[in-house]
Amino acid sequence: MMKYQTYTLHNFKNIPQISMLSDEDILNIEVVGHVLPFKTNNYVVNELINWENFHEDPMFILNFPQKGMLYPEDFNHMATLIKSGASNTILREEANIIREKMNPHPAGQLEYNVPELDGEKLHGVQHKYRETMLFFPSQGQTCHAYCTFCFRWPQFTNMHDLKFSMKEIDLIIEYIKQHPEITDLLITGGDPMVMKASIFDAYITKILNAKIEHLQTIRIGSKSLSFWPYRYLTDSDADEMISVFEKITKSGMNLSFMAHFNHPRELETEAVKSAVKRIRETGAVIRTQSPVLNHINAHGDIWADMWQKQVNLGMIPYYMFIARDTGAQEYFGIPIVKAWSIFKRAYTQVSGIARTVRGPSMSCTPGKIRVAGVTEIKGEKIITLEFIQGRNSDWVARPFFAKFDCHAQWIDDLKPAFDMENFFYEEELAEILLG
Ligand SMILES: *Cc1c(COP(=O)(O)O)cnc(C)c1O
Ligand code: SF4
Repeated sequence: MMKYQTYTLHNFKNIPQISMLSDEDILNIEVVGHVLPFKTNNYVVNELINWENFHEDPMFILNFPQKGMLYPEDFNHMATLIKSGASNTILREEANIIREKMNPHPAGQLEYNVPELDGEKLHGVQHKYRETMLFFPSQGQTCHAYCTFCFRWPQFTNMHDLKFSMKEIDLIIEYIKQHPEITDLLITGGDPMVMKASIFDAYITKILNAKIEHLQTIRIGSKSLSFWPYRYLTDSDADEMISVFEKITKSGMNLSFMAHFNHPRELETEAVKSAVKRIRETGAVIRTQSPVLNHINAHGDIWADMWQKQVNLGMIPYYMFIARDTGAQEYFGIPIVKAWSIFKRAYTQVSGIARTVRGPSMSCTPGKIRVAGVTEIKGEKIITLEFIQGRNSDWVARPFFAKFDCHAQWIDDLKPAFDMENFFYEEELAEILLG
């Protein structure tokens, strides 16, 4: 049994390796950790981080707040307040002001994707793309550790009114029954695998008992293989969780475990290898996803290594994302054309077995837009784009073109190529959003 020990702003100084940090390093963590959520644990600290070179270590940067994640003026403001001994109330209020400036809900998550059942809004659910519904169970709205780049960070801070959550699985089942186009239910968070197996079992049992013929796949979005693989090995309910997975596959449904990995290091420990094996033995298929992140994985060779290691462990590379325009994007974000060149460099050095990956992709208001490549047509340098998911499914798989721009980091920064006024979907999108 591996004891799960978490560290946050309040106790991180108890981590033995912290003695290697300077006073300035510690102040940086305290200042940024007051604004953005901070949580790590003994597995990340002892088995993933390379403390010999922690300043540049991708696993350290993945969990520990970094100075560059705040604008200098915000950093200095918080640092001054902390040094002057400001009260917790003041610190919280000032932190909230900074957070509000950081676009806590990108891509219209709150307004546009909440479905209705008999005229009542279903909070805790999103239904943006026709086939797949997202469910955010209230017991899964935290994670075993927090990624410093997380776009779901408002869920982990104290801004309670921005949280989605819902226990009413019965309403969800009713909604799915009324929507025969839904084939996939993606259970996500936070991380649903922080939930006790007995609670997860209760949800799954209800879903399976409802015997909804058109619902064929249950997906679980989780970072637990990377942050706490002991979830499937030695936790007191590890065996029970594995049996719930078996219950799903034995019922004839597909179980797709959408594993979040950001760096090959996360695939190298004995614990993660054993956990992957156990999950695969239930009949689940593990697909992998990650954003491209400056300071963590912004090189094609890192991605090629990561996909190769995933394939070797029997997993299927699925998504490469471009970092969203929220939180510490200035720190982690990279230009769209650089994301594409990283993708190309990685994609061209792996076999077809790893070329199942889709990306690099932006999850934005109209859909998931893939950067298919940079090219030149009749003397104009352009970026070719393509929807891999759309609010309107007809938009998918239709190439469209933006002016080349080596600085653009998000779809909003791009202009249509060939002197067109708008991208082809914009007018229709405006209509859809008006409802
Ligand atoms: C990515 C995503 C899905 C799943 O899309 P697939 O292409 O089926 O993997 C569903 N809903 C939302 C809101 C998403 O962002
Ligand atoms: S595991 Fe996912 S939800 Fe949790 S902190 Fe990381 S990115 Fe955010």
